[in-house]
Order: sequence, then structure tokens, then C-alpha cells
Amino acid sequence: MRENALVRDIETRLLIAGQFTDAADRATFTTSSPIDGAALAEVSRAGIEDVDRAAAAARSAFDDGPWPKSLPAERGRVLRRIADGIRQRIDDIAEVETRNGGKTIANSRNEVEAASRVFEYYAGAADKFFGETIPMGHDVLDFTLREPIGVVAQITPWNFPFLAAAWKAAPALAVGCAVILKPASYTPLTTLLLGRIALEAGVPDGVLNVLPGPGAVLGDHIAAHRLIDKIAFTGETRTGAQLVKASADAIKRVSLELGGKSPNIVFVDADIAKAADAAVKAGFGNAGQSCSARTRVFVERAAHDAFVTQFAQSTARYRVGNPLDPATDMGPLVSATQWRNVKAMVDDGLAAGGHIVTGGDRPSGLDSGSYFSPTIITGLGNDARIAQEEIFGPVVVVIPFDSEQEVVQMANESEYGLNGSIWTRNIGRALRVARDIRSGMISINSHGSASRYGTYAPFGGYKKSGLGRELGMYALNLYTEVKNVFIDLADEPASPAKTRER
Ligand code: NDP
Repeated sequence: MRENALVRDIETRLLIAGQFTDAADRATFTTSSPIDGAALAEVSRAGIEDVDRAAAAARSAFDDGPWPKSLPAERGRVLRRIADGIRQRIDDIAEVETRNGGKTIANSRNEVEAASRVFEYYAGAADKFFGETIPMGHDVLDFTLREPIGVVAQITPWNFPFLAAAWKAAPALAVGCAVILKPASYTPLTTLLLGRIALEAGVPDGVLNVLPGPGAVLGDHIAAHRLIDKIAFTGETRTGAQLVKASADAIKRVSLELGGKSPNIVFVDADIAKAADAAVKAGFGNAGQSCSARTRVFVERAAHDAFVTQFAQSTARYRVGNPLDPATDMGPLVSATQWRNVKAMVDDGLAAGGHIVTGGDRPSGLDSGSYFSPTIITGLGNDARIAQEEIFGPVVVVIPFDSEQEVVQMANESEYGLNGSIWTRNIGRALRVARDIRSGMISINSHGSASRYGTYAPFGGYKKSGLGRELGMYALNLYTEVKNVFIDLADEPASPAKTRER
């Protein structure tokens, strides 16, 4: 075990009912660092009985505790203290995130800072989300209430561990829900830190529970659990589909943030140098382990060769190395298993006739750790397996196109519909293509998502990329039920005709 003072101080037991506690069967698992493969910490491993304990604690906190009944502004104050608690520990949380998940220290800092802003946003939103009155004529008063949905299980991935936990927990807590957070097994440490910070900020016992443990074992039990009202999930599309199936009999509320294979469309009239430079971060940021990664780059044929040359030059300047070094742009993949998956997909692309422009394997000089070079592949069509399946590694396919109509069709020929970029100086074309792409988000002359600037805009996908929208005021819909209240104001019972109208 690699001794690290920061990691050593983390409470690595389950957080249930306001207490850090061993798993019922006292099981643990080892969490490691992809930087060098060394073990980092032993973490309690939740089992079925622990899900039951956490669900009972959350249920009782929701049904009988003060949290859902408290003034929204009071919940907001607690969320604000969580935001402050995160801000005070940005450096520590970021370092743990980097050691555990391999993302660069600069990215980790940005994400922890962003997580703090998420809690600030929902601290302010808590008392600004409410129902409406609906006009139905002189003798009727009709209004809606927004009620917290109840106990929410939130299952998060390893690619943005701390930020994803914030995106999910903050809006749910703001409206008065009780939460069970299940972090990904590769990266449980920072979610446990969030649990500690929430306790210190005054979140009542049982309102936020943290359960590291194997999703494949716990998932179906969580999905069908009679004490849990809703599941919010981020992860693979197949896992999301399994959760929907397992929760179907209970008609459980489910929201899903799933995979993507987002298009990056470059027209010949674009600023090609800028687009090529942006394609690097768009494809290789977070080592390509991002659902919004622009992994299919479509370039208008007349600009194809110039674009590929500049894209390769910009990629050569992208520094791969130790993620704890502030100068590093890209760290290792999250695990050796993920490395092998990515390599197998690249080999599949080559067998299908693809050409490697750059990358394709381990970078020279980085012999241990799960490092993979940023990889650009040409010579394949949109129907190639590596142009259709999510790789979740730093691999981008560049494909030429001849017309606006053709590129829209190719961009839409995907089972995903999460994000995308359009590069052109023709405003009409930019807006036509933005309109015709079937995805939840799209950027024009940018590789950013609205979420990069804060928490204001909705984030989520069409098709197999998800269900529901996180962030902004949209996320509050995910954690509330709408109740309609109808009041007949007339002393006399309404006539049948009038009732029918109503
Ligand atoms: P997984 O679906 O494997 O895991 C995500 C989470 O689900 C983990 O906590 C995992 O636990 C848990 N899990 C695994 N199996 C089950 C199951 N049967 N039932 C319930 N939960 C389960 O995805 P990854 O961890 O591989 O995350 C990467 C994926 O997430 C990518 O496909 C990416 O596109 C997607 N993603 C989507 C985003 C979006 O907003 N649309 C944002 C970020 C990522 P354990 O770790 O214990 O296996």
C-alpha cells in the first residue's frame, strides 16, 4: 500500500445514518492509483444488507426527519456550507481525485471548484423553485405543488467522480430529498470526502448516505428496493438499460446520463487552425474518458488533409505524463482493464482498414501506469465499429464529407445523441445544422459544453444518451413530483357540463 498522508486521513467506511461504519459483513476492497498501479486504501465494501440499512436510514430521515419539512432557505444555507467546505479543501480533494482516478491535477482542481459552484447554485435555487396557478375560470382555483420525490439512489461513474456526485446530490438535497450515493468502485475516495463535508455542514443524519460497493451486485437490489423512490444514474448505456428493467415493476422514477459518440463537424469555411486545436481537448480531454468527447470528426473534403495535418501537430503538443505534474495535459486511463479495452478498439479499427495518423499505443517513456497516446485514425467510414461504439479513451476518427445534408445524416447515424460541435463562419448553416442534429447539446465554433461555464444550462442526451436533464433549474424537476390541487370555489355544486369542461 502506497502511504499518502491525505489518503490516510480519509474515512473509508460506509456513511449510513450519519455514522461511518463497517460493512455488515466487514468486507473491504482495495482502491488503487492508475498512475503506477499501487494500492491507495482499503474501503468498506457495501453488500445487500448495507443497501437495506442505508435505505431504511434515508427513508426514516425523509418520512420522519426535519429535512424535507425545513424552510427551503434553511436547506440552502446548509448547501452553502457544503460549498464552502469544498472550497476550503480544493487542493486536498483535487489531489485525492488525481491519485485515485488519474485525471490531471489541473482538471481535478477545475472539477472540485465546479462542484463547489454546483452546491452554491442549488443553495440559491432551493427557495426559488415552486408550483404555479393554472387559470380555469371564475369558480375554480387550481394550483400545483412541487414535492420532493423522497429517497433517491444516485449511482455515479469514475470519469468525473466528485463532480458527478455534486451534480446529483446538490439538487436532490435542495428540494428536500434523502440521498444514497453509490460511487464507482475505481474512485470511491472523494465521494466519501463529500459525505464528511456534508455532515460537518449540518446535513441531518440519514439525509446523505455514501455506499461504495460493486454496482453489478447492488444494482438490481437498489433498482427494485421498496424504500427507494428514484434512481439517478450516470454510466454506461447498457447499465442504464439494466437499471430501467430492474426498476420497471416498481414504476420507479429513473433519470439517466449515458454514453455518447459526439460529432465534431468542420466546414471548409471555418477557422481550420482553431478547429484543429480545439479538436485536441474535445477528443482527448480527460484522456477521452468523457461522455461528451467529440470522437467522430467530420471534415469537409476540401479541408480534410489540411485539418488532419494541423490536428496532428496540435496533438503532438499535448503532454501525456504524470497527472500530478501541473504541466501535464493528459494522464493515464483509469485502469489497466480500460487500457486493454481501448487498445482492442484501436486494433479493430486498423483491421477494418483504418490508418493511424498518430498514437495507437503506449507513449514511449511511460512504461508503467495505464497511459495511452492520443490517437487519430483516418480512412474509415461512419459505419466502422470504432466510429459507432463509445471507446472511452483518447481515440478520434476523422471522416471526410461532401455536403451539409450528408454530414447531418452521418452525424445522426448513431445510437447516441449527447453533444457535438459545428465549425463554420456561415451563421445560417451553423443554425440549420444545430437544429437538425438530434442531440441534447450542441456547440458552435467551440468544443465546450454549457456546463463548462457553470451550472446554469441543461445537460443530457437524446436517444440512448439518456433520460432527463441535469444542471440548471431543470435538475430540480428530476427530484420532485408535481401535485395538482383543484378547488371548486362555488357554493353550489358545479353543473355536469361545467364539470366536464373542467
Ligand atoms: P458503468 O455503467 O460501468 O458504471 C457506472 C456506475 O454504475 C458505477 O458506480 C458502477 O459501479 C455502477 N454499476 C455497474 N454495474 C451496475 C449495475 N448492474 N446496476 C447498477 N449500477 C451498476 O460505467 P463506467 O463506470 O464505465 O462509466 C463510464 C460511462 O459513463 C461511459 O459510458 C460514459 O459515457 C458514461 N458517462 C455519461 C455521462 C453523461 O452525462 N451522459 C457523464 C459521465 C459518464 P462499479 O464501479 O462498482 O462497477
